[in-house]
Amino acid sequence: LTTTEEDVLDEIESKDIDFLRLQFTDILGTVKNVSVPARQAEKAFTDGIYFDGSSIEGFVRIQESDMRLVPDPNTFAVLPWRQREDGASARMICDVYDTSTGEPFEGDPRYVLKQAIERANEMGYEINFAPEPEFFMFQEDEDGRATTETADHGGYFDLAPKDLASDVRRDIIYGLEDMGFEIEASHHEVARGQYEINFEYDDALTTADNVGTFRTVVRAIAAEHDLHATFMPKPIPKINGSGMHTHMSLMTEDGENAFHDEDDEFNLSDTAHAYLAGVLEHAPAITAVANPTVNSYKRLVPGYEAPVYVAWSDRNRSALVRKPAARVPAASRIELRSPDPSCNPYLAFAVMIHAGLEGIEKDLEAPDPVRENIYEFDEEKREEYGIETLPSNLGEAVDALEADEVVYDALGEHIGPKFVEAKSQEFEDYLVDVSDWELDRYLETF
Ligand code: GLN
Ligand code: MG
Ligand code: MG
Ligand code: MG
Repeated sequence: LTTTEEDVLDEIESKDIDFLRLQFTDILGTVKNVSVPARQAEKAFTDGIYFDGSSIEGFVRIQESDMRLVPDPNTFAVLPWRQREDGASARMICDVYDTSTGEPFEGDPRYVLKQAIERANEMGYEINFAPEPEFFMFQEDEDGRATTETADHGGYFDLAPKDLASDVRRDIIYGLEDMGFEIEASHHEVARGQYEINFEYDDALTTADNVGTFRTVVRAIAAEHDLHATFMPKPIPKINGSGMHTHMSLMTEDGENAFHDEDDEFNLSDTAHAYLAGVLEHAPAITAVANPTVNSYKRLVPGYEAPVYVAWSDRNRSALVRKPAARVPAASRIELRSPDPSCNPYLAFAVMIHAGLEGIEKDLEAPDPVRENIYEFDEEKREEYGIETLPSNLGEAVDALEADEVVYDALGEHIGPKFVEAKSQEFEDYLVDVSDWELDRYLETF
Protein backbone atom coordinates (compact mmCIF):
# COMPACT_ATOMS: atom_id res chain seq x y z
CA LEU A 1 0.00 0.00 0.00
CA THR A 2 1.32 3.38 -0.86
CA THR A 3 0.41 6.64 0.76
CA THR A 4 0.50 9.66 -1.54
CA GLU A 5 1.51 13.20 -0.67
CA GLU A 6 -2.19 14.11 -1.02
CA ASP A 7 -3.14 11.48 1.58
CA VAL A 8 -0.61 12.90 4.01
CA LEU A 9 -1.88 16.46 3.56
CA ASP A 10 -5.44 15.23 4.15
CA GLU A 11 -4.44 13.40 7.33
CA ILE A 12 -2.58 16.42 8.67
CA GLU A 13 -5.82 18.35 8.23
CA SER A 14 -8.24 15.74 9.60
CA LYS A 15 -6.06 14.67 12.55
CA ASP A 16 -5.22 18.23 13.45
CA ILE A 17 -1.46 17.75 13.34
CA ASP A 18 0.52 20.80 14.48
CA PHE A 19 4.07 19.58 14.10
CA LEU A 20 5.90 17.33 11.72
CA ARG A 21 9.06 15.60 12.72
CA LEU A 22 11.24 14.93 9.72
CA GLN A 23 13.51 12.00 10.52
CA PHE A 24 16.65 10.49 9.09
CA THR A 25 19.51 8.52 10.62
CA ASP A 26 23.22 9.04 11.00
CA ILE A 27 25.86 6.40 10.28
CA LEU A 28 25.47 4.96 13.76
CA GLY A 29 21.75 4.43 13.19
CA THR A 30 20.63 7.12 15.62
CA VAL A 31 17.33 8.67 14.59
CA LYS A 32 17.62 12.44 14.11
CA ASN A 33 14.72 14.85 13.76
CA VAL A 34 14.04 18.26 12.42
CA SER A 35 10.67 19.56 13.61
CA VAL A 36 8.66 21.85 11.33
CA PRO A 37 5.16 23.32 11.66
CA ALA A 38 2.75 21.02 9.84
CA ARG A 39 1.74 23.76 7.41
CA GLN A 40 5.17 23.32 5.82
CA ALA A 41 4.34 19.77 4.72
CA GLU A 42 3.53 20.74 1.16
CA LYS A 43 6.76 22.67 0.81
CA ALA A 44 8.67 19.71 2.29
CA PHE A 45 7.33 17.46 -0.47
CA THR A 46 8.02 19.88 -3.30
CA ASP A 47 11.25 21.65 -2.27
CA GLY A 48 12.48 19.61 0.66
CA ILE A 49 13.60 21.06 3.97
CA TYR A 50 17.14 22.37 4.19
CA PHE A 51 19.28 21.64 7.20
CA ASP A 52 22.89 21.95 8.27
CA GLY A 53 24.38 18.46 8.12
CA SER A 54 27.81 19.35 9.41
CA SER A 55 27.12 18.35 13.00
CA ILE A 56 25.53 14.98 12.20
CA GLU A 57 27.80 12.00 12.77
CA GLY A 58 29.67 11.06 9.63
CA PHE A 59 27.50 13.05 7.27
CA VAL A 60 29.76 15.67 5.81
CA ARG A 61 32.83 17.75 6.30
CA ILE A 62 32.22 21.18 7.78
CA GLN A 63 32.55 23.08 4.50
CA GLU A 64 29.84 21.17 2.69
CA SER A 65 27.14 21.31 5.23
CA ASP A 66 23.86 22.03 3.47
CA MET A 67 21.59 19.04 3.05
CA ARG A 68 18.03 18.68 1.92
CA LEU A 69 15.45 16.36 3.47
CA VAL A 70 12.63 15.01 1.32
CA PRO A 71 9.96 13.11 3.28
CA ASP A 72 8.73 9.70 2.13
CA PRO A 73 4.90 9.89 2.40
CA ASN A 74 4.72 6.12 3.04
CA THR A 75 6.32 6.67 6.44
CA PHE A 76 3.75 9.15 7.76
CA ALA A 77 2.65 8.23 11.30
CA VAL A 78 1.08 10.15 14.17
CA LEU A 79 3.23 10.01 17.31
CA PRO A 80 1.06 8.38 20.00
CA TRP A 81 2.93 9.72 23.01
CA ARG A 82 2.91 13.38 21.99
CA GLN A 83 -0.80 13.82 21.41
CA ARG A 84 -1.95 15.05 24.76
CA GLU A 85 0.92 17.45 25.44
CA ASP A 86 1.11 20.06 22.73
CA GLY A 87 -1.26 19.23 19.92
CA ALA A 88 -0.63 16.18 17.79
CA SER A 89 2.72 15.57 16.13
CA ALA A 90 3.43 13.23 13.27
CA ARG A 91 6.62 12.03 11.72
CA MET A 92 7.89 11.15 8.28
CA ILE A 93 11.17 9.46 7.42
CA CYS A 94 13.18 11.36 4.83
CA ASP A 95 15.68 10.78 2.10
CA VAL A 96 18.69 13.07 2.24
CA TYR A 97 19.83 14.99 -0.84
CA ASP A 98 23.04 16.83 -1.54
CA THR A 99 22.16 20.46 -2.24
CA SER A 100 25.16 21.07 -4.46
CA THR A 101 24.44 18.24 -6.90
CA GLY A 102 20.73 17.69 -6.30
CA GLU A 103 21.52 13.95 -6.13
CA PRO A 104 20.77 11.56 -3.26
CA PHE A 105 23.41 12.01 -0.56
CA GLU A 106 25.77 9.01 -0.42
CA GLY A 107 26.19 9.43 3.32
CA ASP A 108 22.52 8.67 3.93
CA PRO A 109 22.23 5.08 5.22
CA ARG A 110 18.72 4.82 3.75
CA TYR A 111 20.24 5.48 0.33
CA VAL A 112 22.83 2.74 0.90
CA LEU A 113 20.02 0.28 1.57
CA LYS A 114 18.07 1.49 -1.46
CA GLN A 115 21.14 0.74 -3.59
CA ALA A 116 21.26 -2.82 -2.27
CA ILE A 117 17.54 -3.28 -2.97
CA GLU A 118 18.07 -1.92 -6.45
CA ARG A 119 20.70 -4.56 -7.12
CA ALA A 120 18.20 -7.22 -6.09
CA ASN A 121 15.50 -5.66 -8.29
CA GLU A 122 17.87 -5.72 -11.25
CA MET A 123 18.36 -9.44 -10.66
CA GLY A 124 14.57 -9.85 -10.63
CA TYR A 125 13.94 -10.03 -6.88
CA GLU A 126 12.10 -8.23 -4.13
CA ILE A 127 13.47 -8.74 -0.63
CA ASN A 128 11.59 -9.32 2.58
CA PHE A 129 13.05 -8.84 6.04
CA ALA A 130 11.78 -9.56 9.54
CA PRO A 131 13.85 -8.76 12.63
CA GLU A 132 13.38 -10.07 16.17
CA PRO A 133 14.64 -7.26 18.37
CA GLU A 134 15.33 -8.05 22.03
CA PHE A 135 15.84 -5.47 24.76
CA PHE A 136 16.12 -5.02 28.51
CA MET A 137 14.13 -2.70 30.73
CA PHE A 138 15.90 -1.30 33.77
CA GLN A 139 14.87 0.83 36.70
CA GLU A 140 16.00 4.41 37.00
CA ASP A 141 17.67 5.83 40.09
CA GLU A 142 16.42 8.92 42.00
CA ASP A 143 18.11 11.19 39.47
CA GLY A 144 16.36 9.49 36.58
CA ARG A 145 19.53 7.78 35.35
CA ALA A 146 19.49 4.21 34.07
CA THR A 147 20.65 1.46 36.42
CA THR A 148 21.11 -2.22 35.62
CA GLU A 149 18.42 -3.22 38.13
CA THR A 150 15.86 -5.05 36.04
CA ALA A 151 12.19 -4.13 36.07
CA ASP A 152 11.19 -7.68 37.04
CA HIS A 153 12.67 -11.05 37.86
CA GLY A 154 10.75 -13.23 35.40
CA GLY A 155 12.22 -15.71 32.93
CA TYR A 156 11.46 -17.15 29.52
CA PHE A 157 7.73 -16.88 28.72
CA ASP A 158 6.89 -16.26 32.40
CA LEU A 159 3.54 -14.73 33.17
CA ALA A 160 2.42 -12.06 35.63
CA PRO A 161 2.59 -11.50 38.58
CA LYS A 162 6.31 -12.28 38.30
CA ASP A 163 6.49 -10.39 35.01
CA LEU A 164 5.88 -6.98 36.57
CA ALA A 165 6.80 -5.16 33.42
CA SER A 166 4.04 -6.78 31.39
CA ASP A 167 1.86 -3.65 31.76
CA VAL A 168 4.63 -1.59 30.27
CA ARG A 169 5.04 -4.08 27.48
CA ARG A 170 1.32 -3.86 26.76
CA ASP A 171 1.55 -0.06 26.51
CA ILE A 172 4.54 -0.41 24.19
CA ILE A 173 2.52 -2.70 21.95
CA TYR A 174 -0.40 -0.26 21.87
CA GLY A 175 2.03 2.50 20.97
CA LEU A 176 3.55 0.42 18.17
CA GLU A 177 0.10 -0.48 16.85
CA ASP A 178 -0.87 3.19 16.88
CA MET A 179 2.12 3.78 14.64
CA GLY A 180 0.99 1.15 12.17
CA PHE A 181 2.90 -1.93 13.35
CA GLU A 182 1.37 -5.39 12.96
CA ILE A 183 2.50 -7.05 16.17
CA GLU A 184 2.79 -10.84 15.91
CA ALA A 185 3.87 -11.78 19.42
CA SER A 186 5.71 -10.56 22.44
CA HIS A 187 7.31 -12.50 25.25
CA HIS A 188 9.57 -12.33 28.22
CA GLU A 189 13.01 -13.44 27.02
CA VAL A 190 15.43 -15.79 28.73
CA ALA A 191 17.19 -13.20 30.88
CA ARG A 192 15.55 -11.33 33.75
CA GLY A 193 14.21 -7.99 32.59
CA GLN A 194 14.58 -8.98 28.92
CA TYR A 195 11.83 -8.89 26.29
CA GLU A 196 11.19 -9.54 22.64
CA ILE A 197 8.43 -8.10 20.48
CA ASN A 198 7.92 -9.48 16.98
CA PHE A 199 6.31 -7.53 14.19
CA GLU A 200 5.27 -8.60 10.74
CA TYR A 201 7.83 -8.94 7.93
CA ASP A 202 7.89 -6.37 5.17
CA ASP A 203 10.10 -5.22 2.31
CA ALA A 204 13.68 -4.46 3.37
CA LEU A 205 13.35 -0.66 3.35
CA THR A 206 10.11 -0.58 5.33
CA THR A 207 11.57 -3.03 7.83
CA ALA A 208 14.70 -0.94 8.34
CA ASP A 209 12.49 2.13 8.88
CA ASN A 210 10.45 0.04 11.33
CA VAL A 211 13.50 -0.92 13.40
CA GLY A 212 14.34 2.74 13.99
CA THR A 213 10.73 3.49 14.89
CA PHE A 214 10.54 0.44 17.12
CA ARG A 215 13.55 1.51 19.15
CA THR A 216 12.17 5.04 19.52
CA VAL A 217 8.71 3.87 20.62
CA VAL A 218 10.03 1.27 23.07
CA ARG A 219 12.34 3.77 24.75
CA ALA A 220 9.74 6.56 24.85
CA ILE A 221 6.99 4.42 26.37
CA ALA A 222 9.29 2.71 28.86
CA ALA A 223 10.41 6.19 29.95
CA GLU A 224 6.78 7.17 30.60
CA HIS A 225 6.80 4.38 33.19
CA ASP A 226 10.14 5.50 34.63
CA LEU A 227 11.95 2.56 33.11
CA HIS A 228 14.98 2.68 30.85
CA ALA A 229 14.69 0.39 27.82
CA THR A 230 18.05 -0.45 26.29
CA PHE A 231 19.13 -2.11 23.05
CA MET A 232 22.70 -2.40 24.29
CA PRO A 233 23.65 -5.97 23.30
CA LYS A 234 25.08 -7.27 26.59
CA PRO A 235 24.24 -5.04 29.55
CA ILE A 236 24.74 -7.80 32.16
CA PRO A 237 27.58 -10.34 32.00
CA LYS A 238 26.94 -14.08 32.32
CA ILE A 239 23.30 -13.99 31.23
CA ASN A 240 21.85 -13.81 27.70
CA GLY A 241 22.43 -10.65 25.72
CA SER A 242 20.04 -9.00 23.29
CA GLY A 243 20.10 -10.04 19.66
CA MET A 244 18.16 -8.98 16.62
CA HIS A 245 17.82 -12.19 14.61
CA THR A 246 17.05 -11.22 11.05
CA HIS A 247 14.89 -13.31 8.71
CA MET A 248 15.28 -12.86 4.97
CA SER A 249 13.71 -14.16 1.80
CA LEU A 250 13.60 -13.20 -1.86
CA MET A 251 10.48 -12.98 -3.96
CA THR A 252 10.29 -13.21 -7.72
CA GLU A 253 8.53 -10.49 -9.70
CA ASP A 254 5.36 -12.56 -9.82
CA GLY A 255 5.24 -12.85 -6.07
CA GLU A 256 6.60 -16.41 -5.68
CA ASN A 257 8.98 -17.14 -2.83
CA ALA A 258 12.32 -17.65 -4.60
CA PHE A 259 13.70 -19.37 -1.49
CA HIS A 260 11.19 -22.23 -1.50
CA ASP A 261 11.69 -25.61 -3.14
CA GLU A 262 9.32 -28.42 -2.29
CA ASP A 263 11.82 -31.10 -3.35
CA ASP A 264 14.79 -29.93 -1.34
CA GLU A 265 15.52 -31.66 1.96
CA PHE A 266 15.33 -28.29 3.72
CA ASN A 267 12.67 -26.84 1.41
CA LEU A 268 15.25 -24.31 0.28
CA SER A 269 15.78 -23.54 -3.41
CA ASP A 270 19.18 -23.41 -5.10
CA THR A 271 18.81 -19.65 -4.97
CA ALA A 272 18.36 -19.80 -1.21
CA HIS A 273 21.38 -22.11 -0.79
CA ALA A 274 23.55 -19.77 -2.86
CA TYR A 275 22.31 -16.68 -0.96
CA LEU A 276 23.04 -18.47 2.31
CA ALA A 277 26.52 -19.39 1.06
CA GLY A 278 27.17 -15.72 0.26
CA VAL A 279 26.09 -14.66 3.74
CA LEU A 280 28.35 -17.29 5.35
CA GLU A 281 31.30 -16.35 3.15
CA HIS A 282 31.03 -12.68 4.10
CA ALA A 283 29.96 -13.26 7.70
CA PRO A 284 33.10 -11.88 9.40
CA ALA A 285 32.84 -8.54 7.55
CA ILE A 286 29.05 -8.37 8.02
CA THR A 287 29.70 -8.65 11.75
CA ALA A 288 31.41 -5.24 11.83
CA VAL A 289 28.18 -3.66 10.61
CA ALA A 290 25.59 -5.91 12.28
CA ASN A 291 27.50 -5.92 15.59
CA PRO A 292 29.05 -2.46 15.59
CA THR A 293 29.89 -1.81 19.25
CA VAL A 294 32.64 -2.96 21.59
CA ASN A 295 29.89 -4.46 23.72
CA SER A 296 28.43 -6.48 20.80
CA TYR A 297 31.32 -8.95 21.12
CA LYS A 298 30.51 -9.69 24.76
CA ARG A 299 27.27 -11.19 23.42
CA LEU A 300 28.90 -13.29 20.69
CA VAL A 301 30.38 -15.85 23.09
CA PRO A 302 29.49 -19.54 23.58
CA GLY A 303 26.69 -20.53 25.90
CA TYR A 304 24.12 -17.75 25.63
CA GLU A 305 22.19 -18.67 22.46
CA ALA A 306 24.21 -16.20 20.42
CA PRO A 307 26.26 -17.38 17.43
CA VAL A 308 30.03 -17.68 17.47
CA TYR A 309 30.69 -20.10 14.64
CA VAL A 310 30.14 -19.66 10.93
CA ALA A 311 27.80 -22.52 10.10
CA TRP A 312 24.17 -23.09 9.26
CA SER A 313 21.56 -25.51 10.49
CA ASP A 314 17.93 -26.42 10.10
CA ARG A 315 17.57 -27.14 13.80
CA ASN A 316 20.14 -25.99 16.22
CA ARG A 317 20.41 -22.50 17.59
CA SER A 318 24.15 -22.44 18.08
CA ALA A 319 24.57 -21.91 14.31
CA LEU A 320 24.97 -18.50 12.70
CA VAL A 321 22.28 -19.12 10.10
CA ARG A 322 19.19 -21.18 10.78
CA LYS A 323 16.45 -22.35 8.50
CA PRO A 324 13.30 -21.94 10.59
CA ALA A 325 10.45 -24.37 10.11
CA ALA A 326 7.96 -22.87 7.66
CA ARG A 327 4.27 -23.76 7.74
CA VAL A 328 3.61 -22.57 4.17
CA PRO A 329 5.89 -22.22 1.12
CA ALA A 330 5.62 -18.43 1.30
CA ALA A 331 7.31 -18.56 4.70
CA SER A 332 10.51 -20.36 3.60
CA ARG A 333 13.34 -18.10 4.70
CA ILE A 334 16.71 -18.01 6.38
CA GLU A 335 17.49 -16.45 9.76
CA LEU A 336 20.80 -14.73 10.46
CA ARG A 337 21.31 -14.85 14.23
CA SER A 338 24.32 -12.60 14.69
CA PRO A 339 22.88 -9.07 14.33
CA ASP A 340 22.19 -7.15 17.51
CA PRO A 341 19.83 -4.24 18.04
CA SER A 342 22.63 -1.67 18.40
CA CYS A 343 23.21 -1.85 14.64
CA ASN A 344 22.20 0.64 12.01
CA PRO A 345 19.44 -1.42 10.33
CA TYR A 346 19.86 0.27 6.93
CA LEU A 347 23.56 -0.54 6.76
CA ALA A 348 23.20 -3.99 8.32
CA PHE A 349 20.45 -5.03 5.89
CA ALA A 350 22.40 -3.56 2.97
CA VAL A 351 25.51 -5.65 3.68
CA MET A 352 23.46 -8.81 4.21
CA ILE A 353 21.69 -8.28 0.89
CA HIS A 354 24.89 -7.66 -1.06
CA ALA A 355 26.55 -10.71 0.51
CA GLY A 356 23.59 -12.92 -0.36
CA LEU A 357 23.22 -11.60 -3.90
CA GLU A 358 26.95 -12.10 -4.41
CA GLY A 359 26.40 -15.74 -3.46
CA ILE A 360 23.68 -16.02 -6.12
CA GLU A 361 25.74 -14.26 -8.79
CA LYS A 362 28.82 -16.38 -8.11
CA ASP A 363 26.69 -19.49 -7.71
CA LEU A 364 28.37 -20.25 -4.39
CA GLU A 365 27.84 -23.63 -2.81
CA ALA A 366 26.58 -23.75 0.78
CA PRO A 367 28.41 -26.13 3.12
CA ASP A 368 26.47 -28.99 4.74
CA PRO A 369 24.31 -27.97 7.68
CA VAL A 370 25.63 -28.76 11.15
CA ARG A 371 23.07 -30.41 13.36
CA GLU A 372 25.08 -30.82 16.53
CA ASN A 373 25.61 -28.25 19.25
CA ILE A 374 28.64 -26.37 17.94
CA TYR A 375 29.33 -24.78 21.32
CA GLU A 376 30.45 -28.24 22.40
CA PHE A 377 32.93 -28.76 19.54
CA ASP A 378 36.62 -28.42 20.28
CA GLU A 379 38.97 -26.72 17.86
CA GLU A 380 39.91 -29.97 16.21
CA LYS A 381 36.32 -30.87 15.46
CA ARG A 382 35.60 -27.39 14.15
CA GLU A 383 38.58 -27.73 11.84
CA GLU A 384 37.38 -31.10 10.64
CA TYR A 385 33.99 -29.54 9.78
CA GLY A 386 35.67 -26.43 8.30
CA ILE A 387 33.89 -24.10 10.71
CA GLU A 388 35.28 -20.57 11.05
CA THR A 389 34.80 -18.33 14.06
CA LEU A 390 33.24 -14.85 13.98
CA PRO A 391 35.54 -11.93 14.89
CA SER A 392 36.04 -11.88 18.64
CA ASN A 393 36.15 -8.13 19.06
CA LEU A 394 35.34 -4.91 17.24
CA GLY A 395 38.94 -4.47 16.09
CA GLU A 396 39.03 -7.86 14.36
CA ALA A 397 35.63 -7.17 12.82
CA VAL A 398 36.78 -3.86 11.35
CA ASP A 399 39.86 -5.63 9.92
CA ALA A 400 37.56 -8.21 8.32
CA LEU A 401 35.40 -5.43 6.90
CA GLU A 402 38.36 -3.66 5.34
CA ALA A 403 39.55 -6.94 3.81
CA ASP A 404 36.17 -7.76 2.26
CA GLU A 405 35.54 -5.79 -0.90
CA VAL A 406 31.93 -6.87 -1.33
CA VAL A 407 30.84 -5.78 2.14
CA TYR A 408 33.02 -2.68 2.24
CA ASP A 409 31.77 -1.52 -1.16
CA ALA A 410 28.19 -2.18 -0.07
CA LEU A 411 28.54 0.76 2.33
CA GLY A 412 29.38 3.13 -0.51
CA GLU A 413 32.27 5.52 -1.00
CA HIS A 414 31.15 7.95 1.66
CA ILE A 415 30.08 5.65 4.49
CA GLY A 416 32.70 2.87 4.02
CA PRO A 417 35.71 4.93 5.12
CA LYS A 418 33.75 6.96 7.70
CA PHE A 419 32.43 3.81 9.30
CA VAL A 420 35.88 2.22 9.49
CA GLU A 421 37.34 5.42 10.93
CA ALA A 422 34.61 5.81 13.57
CA LYS A 423 34.73 2.15 14.63
CA SER A 424 38.55 1.96 14.72
CA GLN A 425 38.53 5.00 17.00
CA GLU A 426 35.86 3.44 19.19
CA PHE A 427 37.90 0.26 19.58
CA GLU A 428 41.06 2.26 20.30
CA ASP A 429 39.25 4.25 23.02
CA TYR A 430 38.17 0.98 24.58
CA LEU A 431 41.67 -0.53 24.48
CA VAL A 432 43.28 2.33 26.37
CA ASP A 433 40.53 2.49 29.01
CA VAL A 434 40.97 0.85 32.40
CA SER A 435 37.84 -1.03 33.39
CA ASP A 436 36.26 -1.84 36.75
CA TRP A 437 37.09 -5.49 36.07
CA GLU A 438 40.80 -4.64 35.96
CA LEU A 439 40.65 -2.60 39.15
CA ASP A 440 38.78 -5.37 40.97
CA ARG A 441 41.23 -7.95 39.75
CA TYR A 442 44.57 -6.16 40.09
CA LEU A 443 44.42 -3.06 42.26
CA GLU A 444 44.92 -4.85 45.54
CA THR A 445 46.81 -7.85 44.16
CA PHE A 446 49.86 -6.03 42.88
N1 GLN B 1 19.16 -13.61 23.33
C1 GLN B 1 19.68 -14.55 22.38
C2 GLN B 1 20.72 -13.85 21.48
O1 GLN B 1 21.53 -13.20 21.97
C3 GLN B 1 18.59 -15.19 21.56
C4 GLN B 1 17.60 -15.96 22.39
C5 GLN B 1 16.46 -16.49 21.57
O2 GLN B 1 15.74 -15.76 20.93
N2 GLN B 1 16.27 -17.77 21.55
O3 GLN B 1 20.72 -13.94 20.28
MG1 MG C 1 12.26 -14.95 18.62
MG1 MG D 1 14.56 -14.14 21.11
MG1 MG E 1 14.97 -16.19 16.23
